Amino acid sequence: MIPKVRHLREAEIVLKQYFGHSAFRKGQKELIDALMSGRDVLGVMPTGAGKSICYQAPALMLPGMTLVISPLISLMKDQVAALTQAGIPAAYLNSSMDFEEYTLTLREAVQGAYKILYVAPERLTTGVITGLCKHVKVSLVAIDEAHCVSQWGQDFRPSYLKIAAFISSLDQRPTVGAFTATATEQVKADIQKLLELRQPLEITTGFDRPNLYFDVIQAENKIGYVRNYLAAHREQSGIIYCATRKGVEAVWEHLLKNGLSAVRYHAGLTDEERKRNQEAFVYDQAQVMVATNAFGMGIDKSNVSFVIHYNMPKNLESYYQEAGRAGRDGSPAECILLFSNADIQTAKYFILHTEENDELTPEEREAVQEADMKRLNQMIDYCKTTACLRRNILAYFGEDAPNGCGNCGNCKRDFVQQDITVEAQKILSAVTRVERRYPYGLGVTLIVHMLHGSKEQRILDLGLHEFPTYGIMRDTDRKQIRAYIEQLIQEGYLTLSVEYPVLHTTEKARAVLYQGEKVFIAQRRDKVSDRIQEKAAMPAETRQDLFDHLRSVRLELAKQERVPAYIILSNAALADMAQKLPRTRQELLNVSGIGEVKAQRYGDVFLKAIQDWESR
Ligand code: ADP
Ligand code: ZN
Repeated sequence: MIPKVRHLREAEIVLKQYFGHSAFRKGQKELIDALMSGRDVLGVMPTGAGKSICYQAPALMLPGMTLVISPLISLMKDQVAALTQAGIPAAYLNSSMDFEEYTLTLREAVQGAYKILYVAPERLTTGVITGLCKHVKVSLVAIDEAHCVSQWGQDFRPSYLKIAAFISSLDQRPTVGAFTATATEQVKADIQKLLELRQPLEITTGFDRPNLYFDVIQAENKIGYVRNYLAAHREQSGIIYCATRKGVEAVWEHLLKNGLSAVRYHAGLTDEERKRNQEAFVYDQAQVMVATNAFGMGIDKSNVSFVIHYNMPKNLESYYQEAGRAGRDGSPAECILLFSNADIQTAKYFILHTEENDELTPEEREAVQEADMKRLNQMIDYCKTTACLRRNILAYFGEDAPNGCGNCGNCKRDFVQQDITVEAQKILSAVTRVERRYPYGLGVTLIVHMLHGSKEQRILDLGLHEFPTYGIMRDTDRKQIRAYIEQLIQEGYLTLSVEYPVLHTTEKARAVLYQGEKVFIAQRRDKVSDRIQEKAAMPAETRQDLFDHLRSVRLELAKQERVPAYIILSNAALADMAQKLPRTRQELLNVSGIGEVKAQRYGDVFLKAIQDWESR
C-alpha cells in the first residue's frame, strides 16, 4: 500500500495545480486520504463546503476512471465545464444529449479519454455503462446528492436504489464515496445501507456557512423593501423566492415596471420559457431570478450574492437549502427573509391542504401533518427570535454554536423592550367582547375599524358601534393598531384560526385582562450606523473598482468561451486577485482558484487588466 504521507503530499500538489487552492478545507483531507487507500466514505458537508474536490482530486490520482453519479443534468454540465476549464479530461452522459453526441462520448470514454465521467442514475440500468466498465478500469464511484436514495430525504429518487446493484455487478468493486449536504441520522443510515457502503469513513463537517449573513425583516411593505434592496445591489446577482406562482408573477411584473433586470420561474410556465429564463440568470443576462421553490434543484451558479425570501417557507430545511444557494463560492452573501403574519396562514394552509400524500391512510396523514406543523412552528420561531439567527438554524440541525455570531441581523441590532400593556388591554378587551356576542369571531380588519371608531356600514350592521370599546383607539393610526394586533398574535395573546382568519383570545390574554400582567415587546433598533460604516469601509479594502474591472474582463472571456462567468473564475477568486495584485504568472498562481491551466489560459488577460488599472 502507498504510504499515507505520499498521497497526501500528492493531493496537495493536485489541489494547487488543477484547482488553484493552497490548503484543504475541513474534512477534505481525511476523505481524500480514505478514498486513496481504498476505503469507502460518506461525506456530509453543507453546500459550498467543497465536496466535489473530495472525489475529483482522487480521480486525478487513481488509475483509470472515476464515475460520478449525479441526479441533475444542469449540475453535470456545469461541473464538466468547470473541470474542462481547469484542464481535466471530463465528460457526462445523460438524456439531454442527442444520439450522436452520446455515442461519440461513449466511444471516447471506452478509449480511456476521460478521468471523470458524470452519469445520471437512470443510465446505470441500461447496460451501456456496465459495458463501458468492462473496457475501462473504474477505480472510484462517487455518488453526489446521496440523500436522494432515502425516502426520508426531500428529494427521493427511485433510480438511486439501483446504484448498489450496479456497483456489485462490476467485475471488481471500485471504492465508493457518497456525498450529501443532508445530515439527519435517518438519512445517513439509509445512505450507508441502501448504497451498501463498506465500513465507510464518515465525516460530517459543521453546517455553518460563515460567509452567509442572515436576517429576518418584518416588512410592512415587502415590495418596497425589495425595490430598495435591488437598487442598492445593482451589480449583484440574486434570487427572490415567493410562496406561490401568483406571488412570483406580481413581484416579477413590479420589478420589470421599475426597470430592473429580472426573469421568472415556476411550474406554470412552459419548459422552454423556464429553460430560457434559467439560462439568462446563470449567464448573468438577468440580475434577478424571481421564482417558486421549483427553481433551484441543480443550480450551481456560484456567484449568487443574495437570496431574498418574499414569504416564510414551511420549514427550516427548505429555508436553509434555498437560502444556501447564495455565496457558494465563499464570498460574502446575504440571506434575507421577509416575514409577515400572513405567511403563517399561507404555510398552514399548504400543510393542511397538501394533496401530495394521496396514498396515505388518514392516520398516517395526520401524523405527517403533525410533524409538518411542528417544523412550521420552529420556522416561525426563527422568524421571531431576538437571539442569534445562525445559532437558531444550527441548533435546529443539532449543532452547537456560540451565542452570537456577529454576522446576522439579530447580532447586528439592538432590541429595546417596549411596554404596550395599555394598548394590549384595549385590544384584548375588544376581542373578548366581540367573542361573547359573535362566538365564531371576527377578522382583524373589523376589529381595527371598531377600535379606531369607523362609521363603515359593516360596523353599524354588526352593532360594533354600541360596544364600549368602540373608538377607544381613535388617536392611534390604523396601521399601528394592526401592527399591535400582529404583535399580540406573535406573542400568543391572540390567535388567528386557519380556516377562517378570525381573531380569538387565549389563556395568556386573560392574564393581562384580569390579573394585571404586563405586556412587553422587543422592538428592533437597527444599529444603522454600524452597517453604513462597514459598507463605506468596503471599497478601499477590496478595491471595488478593480474588482468591477476584473469582472468585466471575466464577462468578455465568458462570452468568448460560451460558458457562465463563474466557470471562468469565481467572485472569490476575483476578490483575491484584487487584493493580491499579482504582477507575474507566478504570482497569479498564488490567487485562490487559479490553477496552472487557468493561469496559462487567462493569466495574461488578467495581468494586463491589473496593469492597466494600476497605470490609469
Ligand atoms: P459543494 O459541492 O460542497 O456544494 P463545491 O465542491 O461546489 O461545493 O465547492 C464550492 C466552492 O468552494 C468552489 O468554488 C470551490 O472552488 C471552492 N473550494 C473547494 N475546496 C476549496 C479549498 N480547499 N480551498 C478554497 N476553495 C475551495
Ligand atoms: Zn448571529
